Amino acid sequence: MSAGIPPGAWLGLLGGGQLGRMFCMAAQSLGYKVAVLDPGDDSPAGSVADRHLRADYLDRTALAELASLCRAATTEFENVPAAALEFLAQGARVTPAAASVAIAQDRIREKTFLQGAGFAVAPFAVLRSAEDVRRIDSALTPGIVKSARFGYDGKGQARVARAADVEAAFAAMRGQPCVLEQFVALACEISVIVARNERGETATWPVAENRHRDGILDVSIVPARVPAALAERARAIACGVAGALDYRGVLCVELFVTTAGEVLVNEIAPRPHNSGHYTIDACVTSQFEQQARVLADLPLGDPAQHTPAVMVNLLGDIWFDGASDMPREPDWPSVLAHPRAKLHLYGKREPRRARKMGHVTCLGATPDDALATARAVKSALRIPGADAI
Ligand code: AMP
Repeated sequence: MSAGIPPGAWLGLLGGGQLGRMFCMAAQSLGYKVAVLDPGDDSPAGSVADRHLRADYLDRTALAELASLCRAATTEFENVPAAALEFLAQGARVTPAAASVAIAQDRIREKTFLQGAGFAVAPFAVLRSAEDVRRIDSALTPGIVKSARFGYDGKGQARVARAADVEAAFAAMRGQPCVLEQFVALACEISVIVARNERGETATWPVAENRHRDGILDVSIVPARVPAALAERARAIACGVAGALDYRGVLCVELFVTTAGEVLVNEIAPRPHNSGHYTIDACVTSQFEQQARVLADLPLGDPAQHTPAVMVNLLGDIWFDGASDMPREPDWPSVLAHPRAKLHLYGKREPRRARKMGHVTCLGATPDDALATARAVKSALRIPGADAI
């Protein structure tokens, strides 16, 4: 077994968002130095990195500097150009591989790959032309037209009730390739985060139950309130997907549980995921430490959860008074008064509606206890839906 890249070495990161910030903190706590490449001036990751290279992801000079400084590099978001990862891979260890990222960043490739590898997905059709739209099977409606690229948090999506509506929805995507996905009846949405290393060893965290509001993750409840056999199936699917990709790194597999009891893969993210933020406070090894471990070719850490947890996302909306533009400061003292509520703010200067600004992980002696704290935190911060979780 290789000794891996020892603490003290430099690790590189493409992207400057909150996932990158939490990666930096975990890697730094292991003793690594982190260099972040990101074009933003004041990014969440750039502001905690040991070095911030402020440049475009395809800037050759900056990429060469990153490659010469760092023994290994990773990414914190899937829309990083695959060419940037390929360039870095010439001089440094890169996880995940550009090929895995390229599959995850394009819904057509992603769904085709998953289906081809034998994983169940919602029935879909590829839309690239007016001819494709004409030929769609009406059994796929009601459905959702989703742009193949750059869709996240429900963006780049349009619901269609009937086959006749698909043409307009596709036209609204302005010629971008799309998929039409059949609308499936959901019992719940879950995710499994899996880490896979150089030797093909995998480690999965417990299944998270994810609740969304307006297409954005609102709350993750872990462990998910699903039967043990279903949770095992979900974890096996996640390991299977990581294996089929010959993946290196941390991968999130988002799944739909249908009312008929099927488990379908919705999408995959080639990086740590919002539904895994709770791992920082509730697991032996966080998803971010694991990302650093795989990157540095160290043995995997134990993903076991030691405390039930409910993660509550903090969006920019709570910095405004109701629907108005009147700014307000969220009631942090009430949150901090809960001894088991762990506040994480990402250091973003400008709160905007729907922008992810932070999260609170609510821990509990029991899952119900964690849920009770999550409801109290939601109420204190005036986040809707405290009673719905
Ligand atoms: P996505 O960006 O593909 O994860 O979609 C955002 C959200 O829309 C999901 O988390 C689901 O709540 C919902 N959704 C997406 N696709 C479907 C589908 N085929 N059937 C039912 N709900 C869906």
